[in-house]
Amino acid sequence: MTKFLVVLMGLFLFPSLGIGQLYQQNWRDYVPTPSSLEWMPVKTVRINIHFVSKSDGSGNFDEETGRKFARDLVAAANGLLANNQPMNLPKGNQTPVVPIQIRYELSGDSAAPDGIYFIRSDSDYRFNRSDISTIFDPSIFEKYGKQKGKVLNVFLFENTDGSGKTGGIGASDWAKVGGLFYHFKNYQRWAWFGAGLFNHEIGHSLGLFHTWNENDGCDDTPMNENCWNVAEEGPCKIPSNNVMDYNANENAWTPCQVGKVHLALSNPGIPRDFLVPDYLQIYDSLDVFISPGDTLLVSGNRFLRGDLILGRRSVLIVRNCKIVLPPSGRLIQRRKSSILYEQRGKIEMTR
Ligand SMILES: [Zn+2]
Repeated sequence: MTKFLVVLMGLFLFPSLGIGQLYQQNWRDYVPTPSSLEWMPVKTVRINIHFVSKSDGSGNFDEETGRKFARDLVAAANGLLANNQPMNLPKGNQTPVVPIQIRYELSGDSAAPDGIYFIRSDSDYRFNRSDISTIFDPSIFEKYGKQKGKVLNVFLFENTDGSGKTGGIGASDWAKVGGLFYHFKNYQRWAWFGAGLFNHEIGHSLGLFHTWNENDGCDDTPMNENCWNVAEEGPCKIPSNNVMDYNANENAWTPCQVGKVHLALSNPGIPRDFLVPDYLQIYDSLDVFISPGDTLLVSGNRFLRGDLILGRRSVLIVRNCKIVLPPSGRLIQRRKSSILYEQRGKIEMTR
């Protein structure tokens, strides 16, 4: 994705990050703490997948193989999200590896309950990495998008120049991923091959930028040579493995990147509207407990999945954010515990 698109994406994203936001917050308030993940339960992003073929069905997966591929692609991408890796760069870095706490779920409608769609159209079969206008073109989403604004629509394309170049784009409510069928057809590369790229493009949709050539707002993602893979000598001896570079792994997310995505997913509008509503998440109840005598400061929105329990004499400071309890969740305060609300901080009960 080029610089032009970054500007474009900034325009798309502005309404959800600026107008209507209740709090001015920082990504640092949204980095999951490994020892207390009950404060940051997994957020599930609803997506669907469209295969774009020519009118005769050629040029992309057939329906049977495509359905299996799409499900495996989501599973492989979720596998990467569940196994965040240490950063390769900068050399000798001590960047913490935090759980990403994001997953995808295919979300369908009456036309396709599994959330997997097949588009056959010669005129819409337009995706060419050598012609950037075909990449930017939002018409495929405008024409064929499903559950717009509630589900992130992902379109799988092939390069019309017949090349195997992989790549794509992530806008605020749709993404395109190109080249996966080529690698399946020619090299029998299955869904795992595209999982990093898939996360990269959705990373753009969730507000992340490239790290190698521009200021992405993160100090823990160094600019780099953007090497695809390891070389014997030279600058590619240690290539980046960050999800927002182009490389063979794309499996490392830094705390800043994870924090930025959770910040975007914790405030009103898109992309938060893509989430499976918290009250529908089928997870074990995750009670949150503040130990007796402890003081805890919370300064980023938190959507809990269980009771919030304050131990004896504990203090909870809710600053410049809201804590939301699930429908069955209770706020339990043991003796002499207290809650301090600062800068419009509040606790909300879901009904
Ligand atoms: Zn990109």
